[in-house]
Amino acid sequence: MDQGLIEHVDALLIGAGIMSATVATLLKELDPSLRVVVFERLTRVAGESSDARNNAGTGHAALCELNYTPQRADGTIDTSKAEKIMECFEQSKQLWSYLVDKGMCASGSEFIRSIPHVSFVAGEDVSFLRARYEALQNNLLFRSMQFSESREQLACWMPLVMNGREADTPVAATFSELGTDVDFGALTRALFARLEAMDGFDLYLDHEVRQLAQDADGAWRVHVQDEELDAPLKYRANFVFIGAGGAAIDLLDASDIVEGQGYGGFPVSGLWLVCKNQDVIGRHNAKVYGKAKLGAPPMSVPHLDTRYIGGERALLFGPFAGFSTKFLKEGSYLDMPTSVTADNILPMLHAGIRNVPLTIYLIEQVLQSHEDRMNALREFVADASSDDWTLEVAGQRVQVIKKDDEVGGKLEFGTEIVSARDNTIAALLGASPGASTSVSVALDLLEDCFPERMKTERWRDKLREMIPSYGHKLAKDPALAERVRAHARRSLGLRA
Ligand SMILES: Cc1cc2nc3c(=O)[nH]c(=O)nc-3n(C[C@H](O)[C@H](O)[C@H](O)COP(=O)(O)OP(=O)(O)OC[C@H]3O[C@@H](n4cnc5c(N)ncnc54)[C@H](O)[C@@H]3O)c2cc1C
Repeated sequence: MDQGLIEHVDALLIGAGIMSATVATLLKELDPSLRVVVFERLTRVAGESSDARNNAGTGHAALCELNYTPQRADGTIDTSKAEKIMECFEQSKQLWSYLVDKGMCASGSEFIRSIPHVSFVAGEDVSFLRARYEALQNNLLFRSMQFSESREQLACWMPLVMNGREADTPVAATFSELGTDVDFGALTRALFARLEAMDGFDLYLDHEVRQLAQDADGAWRVHVQDEELDAPLKYRANFVFIGAGGAAIDLLDASDIVEGQGYGGFPVSGLWLVCKNQDVIGRHNAKVYGKAKLGAPPMSVPHLDTRYIGGERALLFGPFAGFSTKFLKEGSYLDMPTSVTADNILPMLHAGIRNVPLTIYLIEQVLQSHEDRMNALREFVADASSDDWTLEVAGQRVQVIKKDDEVGGKLEFGTEIVSARDNTIAALLGASPGASTSVSVALDLLEDCFPERMKTERWRDKLREMIPSYGHKLAKDPALAERVRAHARRSLGLRA
């Protein structure tokens, strides 16, 4: 394309991670005639949070993550968040099954595998886990989960964790065969490979979006820097999705939409202990989640994970939290300081004051030595040898700080879609539960930004073909739940 030439597209997506891949896939399935382009600043797809080593690869379905089921003051368990996340993950599996059936890849095992999900607690947390298990039994989607306080049973589920454990403390675990490990990097690459074979779709790597401004007719003028050219390329788009991961906050600010004002970002990086000993790797086959320590952010709950990365079996423990002022792993240390504006400085200060325990927790985490981290691992693997484990840097998550009328500013741990009132632009902020819920996030985004087309019979029929539970609650429809799970077992090669 000639330097400076303006091309008009239907949809322009910023960033080549799992979110843009999913939004682009849905758009092209719903209307193959749409002209869609994606720009990515790196020279590869899924180079940031969506890369397998940058996230934990847990197919978040709330089977093992204890922070999705908080305990109320009266001791009962609030399961609402867990039930929502389970429904979302079921939607993801449905779309992925549809795409594998359509030939996206030879087999689902290229990106997803059955790995049991286990929650493991000791001491006084045993009663919490029992109450959680009993509360989740009211929802049919969780009914295959098992609970046990028997050390023999726990040793069958996770021999590495039970080996050498003192017998005087009570222990308990839940175990679910429905659990999965997902290589979101492989999935993102498969989605983009499929998109690139379609007419009316282009992916430009090594192209950074630098500016965006709305024209009088509502379309967006987007300036993109191709590293080989001096002047930026200029595109016009009817719809823009800012799927730039941690950098989405800056681009949202650059868009100048009223709805995007007052947002700030607080980056939390991650670190893994990665096992190098094949014998140890072979002795564990589960994702074992514990309970968060007081003051720890929810995404820093430690877990011992069997992973399949690029088809290779691996064992990772973490994530340990770290602090960096970068919004992207391959970003700049100036990202956070330069993101502070007159609009967000007050919410950021208020959020800082209200989150002192988090700050203390992060400082403690950053100051940890290899032996400190090994000691945290030894709470899971009593005889872990320091020589078998090495430290690797995971991805960068940017937690959202937003204005709050009552307390000035709040730190949020979930994801949020911020869209303009005229539906021409939307950004995805935050990173939890993350890639697992990418399909439901993309559906929410389409409902926000394409409300009329989402109501048409053509789009609704296609959505139901791809995601049969769209618009339904599987928990209320046992026959549909069994049908979509059977489809996922067949198409994705899952055990349960
Ligand atoms: C430590 C850690 C553990 C996690 N564990 C899990 C887990 O177990 N399960 C789960 O489901 N999720 C997990 N997540 C969250 C998950 O990784 C993210 O939610 C998901 O990958 C986000 O995808 P994305 O496409 O929004 O962002 P990304 O994958 O970060 O993609 C954004 C892309 O935008 C590009 N970009 C940025 N700015 C520009 C620009 N100006 N122009 C062009 N391109 C740009 C970036 O280079 C990047 O490639 C974890 C995350 C972390 C950090």
